Amino acid sequence: MKRPICLALLLLLAATALLAAGGDDLKCATCGRVIKKTKHYLEFDGKPYCSQACFEAALPKCATCGKTVGDGAKQGEFLKYKGKIYCSQACFEEALPKCATCGKPVNGGIIVDGKYYCNADCHRQSLPRCAVCGKPVDGGLRDPLDRDKAYCSQECFNTTLPACDVCGRRMRSWRTLDDKRYCDSCAALPRCFNCGHPGAEAVLPDGRRQCRGCFAAALFDTAQARALFERVRREVADSLGLATDRAIAFHLVDQHQLARAAKVKRASERGLYLYRASVRDSAGRRRTVGETADIYILDGLRPAEFMDVAAHELAHDVQQQRFPRVRNKVTTEGFAEYVAGLMATAWGREELNRERLKNEFAEYVTGYQRMVKIGQNGGLKAVLEHLKQQNRKGV
Ligand SMILES: [Zn+2]
Ligand SMILES: [Zn+2]
Ligand SMILES: [Zn+2]
Ligand SMILES: [Zn+2]
Ligand SMILES: [Zn+2]
Ligand SMILES: [Zn+2]
Ligand SMILES: [Zn+2]
Repeated sequence: MKRPICLALLLLLAATALLAAGGDDLKCATCGRVIKKTKHYLEFDGKPYCSQACFEAALPKCATCGKTVGDGAKQGEFLKYKGKIYCSQACFEEALPKCATCGKPVNGGIIVDGKYYCNADCHRQSLPRCAVCGKPVDGGLRDPLDRDKAYCSQECFNTTLPACDVCGRRMRSWRTLDDKRYCDSCAALPRCFNCGHPGAEAVLPDGRRQCRGCFAAALFDTAQARALFERVRREVADSLGLATDRAIAFHLVDQHQLARAAKVKRASERGLYLYRASVRDSAGRRRTVGETADIYILDGLRPAEFMDVAAHELAHDVQQQRFPRVRNKVTTEGFAEYVAGLMATAWGREELNRERLKNEFAEYVTGYQRMVKIGQNGGLKAVLEHLKQQNRKGV
């Protein structure tokens, strides 16, 4: 590869040799001028040159910097590499490809994907790092959603997949419910009656299924539930001015008991307000006698839901006393939902008001939306005015 030649020495030889030679005139190999053989001229590689300038012009040039290789004044040393000539080590290295990792000139080395590297070490350093474990990734996997992310192995990639909220397995496909993800088999598990999520492990005596989270927070204790019920009654009175002075019997019940109280086969609601009274004629005057009010609330609800149901049922009590002639279910349930909605806002539980719009019974949703519309200007006052009008009409 390297072929050092001492040009200075060659020049000297050429200049002296020609003096001895005789015969015909020659032509300069560079400029074509006729050279008298009797004069001094230069010869190099069997070719004659009329002057030092013509000789140098014929000399090879550095493939990098273009300089004449072997300037007679200096000691010339050049390198021949792949048919090209370089004046110096620096020019030679400049012409070499550079390592894609460290930037050093690569002489030999390795080529991967059209890129040069000094050695296997430099190549490894250029590899992308596994997005999970940080190891260099040669080949490996790419994130289907983000091509810039590489993974060294299927195992590392799998750790980036979402885990099923019930069984914890990593999933390539899943079902989503309220920001939670479930694998297909877990999605088919029994659902919690409370939050609707699958994987409800607890089975209540009445057959309802409940997830662990809801079960841990749920109200099953009557005394505790009654205290919370009374608190809601006070708060509805204090913050909305909606109160009655009648005695309300509170009952924490399971689904069977609720169905019996509501005189239905299967209770699908969470609470019930029952008002009973009889009207007697005595001495020509009609009197309401034997008045009773009962509120039933399903056990196993979480406190937030229990309070929501309590506010709803208490609103029925207010409506019964103030607007007893209102019978239309859309109006009565709409009002109860509206009152519960105002309390949910006061308690900072706006999510309950979004849930309200998903009620499986259309009357509740229609009624609630109607009341919200009426309440948009004038709030609760406007809603109460609306009920007053309905009461007057007796609808
Ligand atoms: Zn010449
Ligand atoms: Zn050069
Ligand atoms: Zn390198
Ligand atoms: Zn990895
Ligand atoms: Zn699962
Ligand atoms: Zn649940
Ligand atoms: Zn109701």
